[in-house]
Amino acid sequence: MAKASEVGNGGQSAIGQPYYCQECKRNHTKGKIYKEHLNFAKFESEKEESIEDESESNDMAQEDSDILEEEEEIVTEMDDEEFHNEIEEDEDFDEEILALDNNNSDCVDAVKKLPGVGEATLKKLIKAGFGSLESIAYTPPSIIQEESGLGDKTTAKLIKASMEKLNIGFKSAEDVWEHRRNIARITTGSQELDNLFGGGIETGCVIEFFGEFRTGKTQIAHMLCVNVQLPKEDGGLSGNALYIDTEGTFRPERIIQMAEGLDLDHKKVLKNIVFGRAYNSDHQVLLIKEATNLIREKNIKLIIVDSLIGHFRSEYVGRGTLANRQQTINTHLHDLLRLTDIFPELCIIVTNQVQSKPDVFYGNPTVAAGGNIVAHGSTIRVYLRKGKGEQRVAKMIDAPHLPEGEAIFSITENGIVD
Ligand code: ADP
Ligand code: MG
Repeated sequence: MAKASEVGNGGQSAIGQPYYCQECKRNHTKGKIYKEHLNFAKFESEKEESIEDESESNDMAQEDSDILEEEEEIVTEMDDEEFHNEIEEDEDFDEEILALDNNNSDCVDAVKKLPGVGEATLKKLIKAGFGSLESIAYTPPSIIQEESGLGDKTTAKLIKASMEKLNIGFKSAEDVWEHRRNIARITTGSQELDNLFGGGIETGCVIEFFGEFRTGKTQIAHMLCVNVQLPKEDGGLSGNALYIDTEGTFRPERIIQMAEGLDLDHKKVLKNIVFGRAYNSDHQVLLIKEATNLIREKNIKLIIVDSLIGHFRSEYVGRGTLANRQQTINTHLHDLLRLTDIFPELCIIVTNQVQSKPDVFYGNPTVAAGGNIVAHGSTIRVYLRKGKGEQRVAKMIDAPHLPEGEAIFSITENGIVD
């Protein structure tokens, strides 16, 4: 994944596969993206090393790059299994794990102390993104097994032990209230919009903004990426953002304008936004699965998925694919929800398109795309529509504790304001 500062204007590519990957400068095929990206990352880092060598001896560097080219060819030809073995034997990988270990030593230490966790098991867990008790306790056993390669008995034991350590079980409503009272929030930049949410966008849940095009979904997403970086007293979380862009509409220049509107150093603000362009639905799902380690490493407090189901809608065409599509979206949403269990101070924003409801003659003829699966998956849902000029109207559609209501805000050059 790239930093926001490295992302150019374009990035638009036709949905479908194969497509041309801007990062790797080559074509990807569906289902192979992750592997190909890993290949790419691996060679990038090797290239960097060879560039360092270059300063010592140009001849050697030439040799290196020849070897690199040869190797690249070989790896392109490798099949999945071989590639997997390659990774397992890779010595660098141990170092990576060690680095991870050092970065999050408290979390990893706790996992290390679980009964029956030796070095090999620990490595497998960390590699699959289960480097904390929370991530083990909140993930269904089948997913842990599938992603880490551990057996079912080991997995069951680990989950049980993690749950015991975390004291997961019943608690009093008073404890729940204590937690909710102190819940962290991010300001949207508009007082009215903040009020609609009961004092800013809350963390620990998935919030969905849906509406027609140009209603401000992407603008709100950009604004929150800037605001999350503010200190708590200014309405932020002193954290960073992860932006998953499925439509190619992320614009660093908007971030710069918004940062400048708040008198922030836009270079720093851009650096603190991790950007991932999802080229198709598989890729989108993988980016979120990869996120666990990233969140901890980079102090991510906000995740944006803009938009949630655009790819799914264009890839799963026809009635016959509907059940499959809904199931995949459901799993994806649960991956997102689980992240908020693992990281309680994380806010997740998804945007959603609307589809027309041809049988409605009175009232609003549009509904959020994705059907009940998305409706039940997101905790808070807000409908956006256009008002006069730069004005937009946000309507609270569904929230466990907030009344239905409306707020009017504006989109300006400096972002979201009253
Ligand atoms: P969507 O809901 O489709 O994601 P956007 O969030 O991208 O829509 O909103 C697009 C709208 O944002 C534009 O129609 C325009 O009104 C407003 N907008 C975009 N950039 C600027 C800007 N630099 N200054 C003022 N308004 C802007
Ligand atoms: Mg948009």
